[in-house]
Amino acid sequence: MSTLKAVRGTRDLLPPETELWNHIEATARRVFARYNFGEIRTPIFEDTSLFARGVGEETDIVSKEMYTWEDRARAQSEKSQSLTLRPENTAGVVRAYIEHKLGETGLLQKLFYIGPQFRRERPQKGRYRQFWQIGAEVIGPPSAGSESPLRDAEVIEMLATLLDELGIVGWKLEINSVGSSADRARYVAALREALAPVKDRMCEDNQRRAETNPLRVLDSKDAGDQEIIDGLPKIAEYLDAESTENFRQVLAALNACAVPYTVNPRLVRGLDYYTRTTFEFTHGGLGAQNALLGGGRYDGLSEVLGGPKAPGIGFAMGEDRLVLTLQAQAAEAKAALADAFVAPLGEGLNAEALKLARELRGAGLRVELGDGGFRLKKSFEMGNKLARKIVLLGEDELSSGMLTVKDFATGEQVKIARTNLTEALR
Ligand code: ATP
Ligand code: MG
Repeated sequence: MSTLKAVRGTRDLLPPETELWNHIEATARRVFARYNFGEIRTPIFEDTSLFARGVGEETDIVSKEMYTWEDRARAQSEKSQSLTLRPENTAGVVRAYIEHKLGETGLLQKLFYIGPQFRRERPQKGRYRQFWQIGAEVIGPPSAGSESPLRDAEVIEMLATLLDELGIVGWKLEINSVGSSADRARYVAALREALAPVKDRMCEDNQRRAETNPLRVLDSKDAGDQEIIDGLPKIAEYLDAESTENFRQVLAALNACAVPYTVNPRLVRGLDYYTRTTFEFTHGGLGAQNALLGGGRYDGLSEVLGGPKAPGIGFAMGEDRLVLTLQAQAAEAKAALADAFVAPLGEGLNAEALKLARELRGAGLRVELGDGGFRLKKSFEMGNKLARKIVLLGEDELSSGMLTVKDFATGEQVKIARTNLTEALR
């Protein structure tokens, strides 16, 4: 019999890696709590039409990536129903907001979720068929302030804080405004016009997009088409005064908190209920799948799902990609560590310590040298940052020829003969 394996695009998370997952989730929960978010857990599967309406029929997600099946009725009182494993969580959260009449509280609803999502994509590094998202939504009636650009800035500032607190170094924030649906309609018309004379020179995918959804041409990665794309009109020129002012206020609030960003005029979303702010946090270490998270405003979504007017803004982070980034960073930090930190115990031993370092370096080891003027505590702290192991050189060590070596990773401390030291450190 052939052995069974986890299905393509899915994988087991095992210890000790699961510790990192728990650490990320605990950090997210702690940060969300400070911003007064509460947790929501929606079902893993929903009525297919929720995603058809809430994500959009013409998106890749709905048109080709969903796990959908016909759930057969088990009793006469039931109907067969088309169900889908959730490919994302915003639609489910907004459905729950409507179903539980959360808008009637008159307050902003600030909800976060952590859980698996499912998309039938081509598996590769950072792209799986079951993956995890950590996301949040701020949604409510306009009277609760849900339309304010301050909400956008607050959510984005929270994300900058979260990524910093996770220790993710080198993230980048790209931001844009797609304006109101009227702004976007004018822009799409202009795009069509600009694409008409040049689209024949573009790749097949872009020729199709130019017809069906010209906004999607903008996020095409086709190298040959970049020059044409760079020359296309920019959405900023099509925003009306109100949308322009709204975007200015979002950026001003980010400036006030010193959150760094780049305005990327190509960051757009194709659907009518996406309005105004869109953003993405990326990380260079991820390669082709460089988006850590995506987010934006969806002022029309509740109404598309049959609910009341409930403007909102939210984001979804790829937890798998956070894990990959932190693992790569840890590996890099480890690779950058010296083999040993030689710590003379007293200034009188400085010259001997230099001599020992010279021996070790001569054997090809990467060695950092402390100073006898340091206290033992400081030598250990510094050694821990710079090297994998610390070698203590005191009077006793010098006369006995037995050196004390501590491994920072294991905490193990041993005495090693000077003649064996090179081998032990390698
Ligand atoms: P991408 O351009 O990488 O496909 P997307 O636009 O499809 O991303 P969203 O639907 O906005 O992404 O999802 C938010 C985040 O979820 C992404 O930024 C990414 O970090 C993560 N994500 C999306 N799809 C996957 C996947 N198949 N595997 C792992 N993470 C994913
Ligand atoms: Mg995708």
